[in-house]
Amino acid sequence: MSIAQDLQKLRDRLAPTDRMPLVFLGHGSPMNALEDTAFSRAWSDLGRSLPLPKVILVVSAHWMTRGTTLVDVSAVPRTIHDFYGFPDALYAQTYPASGDPDLAREVVSLLASHHAEEDDTWGLDHGAWTVLKFLYPEADVPVFQVSIDMSRDLDHQLEIGRALSDLCDRGVLILGSGNVVHNLRAVRWDAGAKPLDFALEFDGLFTDRLTDRDFATLSDREGLGALLRMAHPSVDHYLPALTVAGASDARDGLIFMTDSIDLGSVSMRSFVFHAA
Ligand code: ZN
Repeated sequence: MSIAQDLQKLRDRLAPTDRMPLVFLGHGSPMNALEDTAFSRAWSDLGRSLPLPKVILVVSAHWMTRGTTLVDVSAVPRTIHDFYGFPDALYAQTYPASGDPDLAREVVSLLASHHAEEDDTWGLDHGAWTVLKFLYPEADVPVFQVSIDMSRDLDHQLEIGRALSDLCDRGVLILGSGNVVHNLRAVRWDAGAKPLDFALEFDGLFTDRLTDRDFATLSDREGLGALLRMAHPSVDHYLPALTVAGASDARDGLIFMTDSIDLGSVSMRSFVFHAA
């Protein structure tokens, strides 16, 4: 199905409700922020299709902590250019949205049993701003990030999602940004590189298990075994997908978008849970 058809389906199904959809975007290369690609066009279209949130809470693959979950309480989050060797034009990009310190502090309380703490040093890393600039180009919706605790097992991120779930009923858009498959060691830089077998296999398994809401399988590191280690030598890009899954409701509908494997081993698959 084409991206346009996917988005039309999403627009048709978004019920008039106060419950905000939950979004996971495969962000891929930071260069998507500069280029007119199928992905950046899909993010723009998605932004026009979603109800306007009051606040955006982003869980990005690029804010990794150990032993704590940090919540950015900055009044004005800085734009972080956390990549190397890219064109100057990418370093000149900014995303000047304000933060929401009050809600961010409330999130610290919500996650108190998950070792959450306030932070005012982070800002918006490229997992956040390279997609936000297409979703909400005016940067007129307050946004703040929540980190991923890399010291915990996979189901911890599902629990974080569950703890945040009620925010969807208060106009908060929970946005996960990572990749369903992300193995940079296996990347093929030639244009038109074919998807590698393990990438297709994990992407397919993830899609099936997510559709069945079989989150136990998706968070079973041992059960996923070698396939998970191939798809994610480090799970940073996987965890935000689990946060979004954990925050979803069993009654939600689920739509997939941009289901392609880029560079052989980076899944650009994105998905939206929405009140059915
Ligand atoms: Zn990334």
